[in-house]
Amino acid sequence: MKQSSESSELADLPLFAPKPVTPPPKSSGPSRWRKLATWLPLLGLVLFLAGVALLIPLGMDEPGVFLPPNRTLPTVVVDAGHGGRDGGAFRNGLREKDLALDTALRLERQLRARGFPVVLTRRDDTFVELFDRAQVANAIPRALFVSIHFNDNTTAAGDGVETFYATDKVAASEGWSIARMFKRRHEPPPADNGFAFAHCVQGAVVIGLDITDRGAKARDLAVVRYTRCAAVLVEGGFLNNPREAKKLALPDYRERLATAIAEGVAAYQREQSAGS
Ligand SMILES: [Zn+2]
Repeated sequence: MKQSSESSELADLPLFAPKPVTPPPKSSGPSRWRKLATWLPLLGLVLFLAGVALLIPLGMDEPGVFLPPNRTLPTVVVDAGHGGRDGGAFRNGLREKDLALDTALRLERQLRARGFPVVLTRRDDTFVELFDRAQVANAIPRALFVSIHFNDNTTAAGDGVETFYATDKVAASEGWSIARMFKRRHEPPPADNGFAFAHCVQGAVVIGLDITDRGAKARDLAVVRYTRCAAVLVEGGFLNNPREAKKLALPDYRERLATAIAEGVAAYQREQSAGS
């Protein structure tokens, strides 16, 4: 109060009188900002509505694609088998590495639509070491690992799908990989070595594709053995079986396979959260 009375006294002196009367030329600045501040929310709203208008038609094609990941769900590491110089099986005009990548990308969309965060070990035709594929999952806390492959055998007798899990888990601690640069969390491997996970995925695929059930089996395969988390390797059909190859060549059929695997992952997750 004292200060304001003092300043009003000073303002009465002729020397200081012109100051408040003539505003400095820069005083137009704040009013310009004030104008901008009035328009900014409106501009933001217009941009937001334009964004929503763009997303709605896209979202109708792939419902749920824009769902933000549900952080309470585990991250699913989707591993497209083979890649690059490793083509995998090549039968009836179908190359395993291409089918695996296509199915993995479809599975990624299906899982994201169900709210799962997803990481792929490869998104294009590149070669990735088996050990490094496992390490991607080992670098992520609360992961699930799904590897996609297709079968081949020397006789044409093989048909159906099978899902493998580890006979036992080896927490990989040696070797170099980019994944090791991430912060690692050591979690105990699942007590059943992935048996329950394999059963959920295998069951869902058999129902989804109405195909011969070759079962969920334990096998010493690098990617399921070196991942600490529950991990499965799905053999989604026989490329050397002309009947199955014909179906696997169809994008719609691969979409059904990816959808069924996603259903199996979701079923396992429900089972786990109900049990905990
Ligand atoms: Zn394979």
